[in-house]
Amino acid sequence: MSQREAEIIARVPKELFIAGKWRPAGSGATFDVTDPATGATLCAVANAAAEDGRAALDAAVTAQASWAACPPRERGEILRRAYELLTERTDDLALLMTLEMGKPVAESRGEIAYAADFFRWFAEEAVRIDGGYAVAPNGQSRLLVLRQPVGPCLLITPWNFPMAMGTRKIGPAIAAGCTMVIKPAGQTPLSMLALADVLTEAGLPDGVLNVVTTTNANGVMAPLIADPRARKLSFTGSTEVGRKLIAQAAQGVLRVSMELGGNAPFLVFADADLDAAVEGALLAKLRNIGEACTAANRFHVQREIAGEFTDRLVARMADLRIGRGTEDGVRIGPLIDDDAVTKVGRLVTDATGRGARLLLGGGAIEGAGHFFQPTVLADVPAEAELRHEEIFGPVAPIFVFDTEDEAVAAANDTEYGLVSYVFTRDLDRALRVAERLESGMVGLNQGIVSNAAAPFGGVKQSGVGREGGRVGIDEYLEDKYVSIAVP
Ligand code: NAP
Repeated sequence: MSQREAEIIARVPKELFIAGKWRPAGSGATFDVTDPATGATLCAVANAAAEDGRAALDAAVTAQASWAACPPRERGEILRRAYELLTERTDDLALLMTLEMGKPVAESRGEIAYAADFFRWFAEEAVRIDGGYAVAPNGQSRLLVLRQPVGPCLLITPWNFPMAMGTRKIGPAIAAGCTMVIKPAGQTPLSMLALADVLTEAGLPDGVLNVVTTTNANGVMAPLIADPRARKLSFTGSTEVGRKLIAQAAQGVLRVSMELGGNAPFLVFADADLDAAVEGALLAKLRNIGEACTAANRFHVQREIAGEFTDRLVARMADLRIGRGTEDGVRIGPLIDDDAVTKVGRLVTDATGRGARLLLGGGAIEGAGHFFQPTVLADVPAEAELRHEEIFGPVAPIFVFDTEDEAVAAANDTEYGLVSYVFTRDLDRALRVAERLESGMVGLNQGIVSNAAAPFGGVKQSGVGREGGRVGIDEYLEDKYVSIAVP
């Protein structure tokens, strides 16, 4: 570790953040955070148990009434200051993120900008929480609609976007006047701890945000989900865990928002701009080393151009520098851990075993860290597991189609429905296909859809609810209607 890296790690608080104070876990336990590029231990952070989680919820409950009464402008200004602090500190925060998560620093900088943008967006939304007043249809009463904070929220985030998946929840919760307990992923707690520091400096009152880091996610969160004082659960992570959490939340009829897994189809029609399609494919496939819920999981290419698209994609993917994300020019960092490498390897072996042709890469890279080669597969049979499972790695399987109907049917042939990508220069086709795709989002002639101003979310088993955009704050507000008698 370089001296600058060591200094950045040293500056991050390593304890639990509860009621505005940093404190160790009640048991004194800690767990190690490692660098996925080297396997080296970066530092240890507090390892919360159930009683620490309860203390965090106690703090959130205590702070709820005064926070709900804080003027919206003040809430917005805290978010705006936090946006500015994140922006000023991008260099250090990006390096911190790369150290714990592995993505190239340039991409971590992109994530800090994206994360900060949720604070800027919701700073603006905090003062636009409206209500309603209407005359009842029979004219005999008036209908007043208030929009009030949901109450204390439980937030759970994944390791792949360690900060943006947090700000996408924390931003609207703060704007709406909700307090919260957040549990970041065990593999990447440092970005969230650094974020808590930024929010404190921005003036967030004690108890509004409480952070618990733990290796016992279920043991800490299940009692909180069952606690009648919690009013909402917002989760970003795998569909498998999301299903379990929905079942737990059902017991107390908690409001839930679920941002779950994806299996994004990337459709390239023969009339597409091929340069744009290849650029879009690289972005959609390799952003975050393929470890994104929005990652293109499978490429469906019209037969006339399938050969040329494939050749160009192979050439571009063969040319990418692999290495530690802190090094200049690296485009492909490590996967998060050994299990991830094993899973991606299994999916590739399954596909080749069923007859797919390996055009590039195909396996893990020997040595320290969890690296996997950029991989392209052609002639992939429809039964291959990677057509149906989230790959979460730098592997691009290519399927061929003949007609538009065939392409749409293949795209929709999945339990997931987060995002789809479509490349075509025919506007009629673009709109027709976008309307028929069963996904919450569509990237039309572009390989990236994430934007704080847009409603991000999925249909089918990719989730429930939306984050960002005008509707993002709705997830943290309840409508209350007051019926007023008119004499
Ligand atoms: P994960 O295994 O589902 O974990 C996500 C979070 O849930 C982590 O904080 C994890 O804690 C926690 N968790 C796991 N089991 C839990 C339980 N029983 N009770 C309470 N919390 C629990 O997912 P991941 O591997 O971190 O992230 C990758 C997944 O997230 C992919 O499927 C990806 O598509 C999805 N994702 C979706 C979106 C979206 O917006 N739709 C965005 C990003 C990622 P530990 O870390 O301690 O296990």
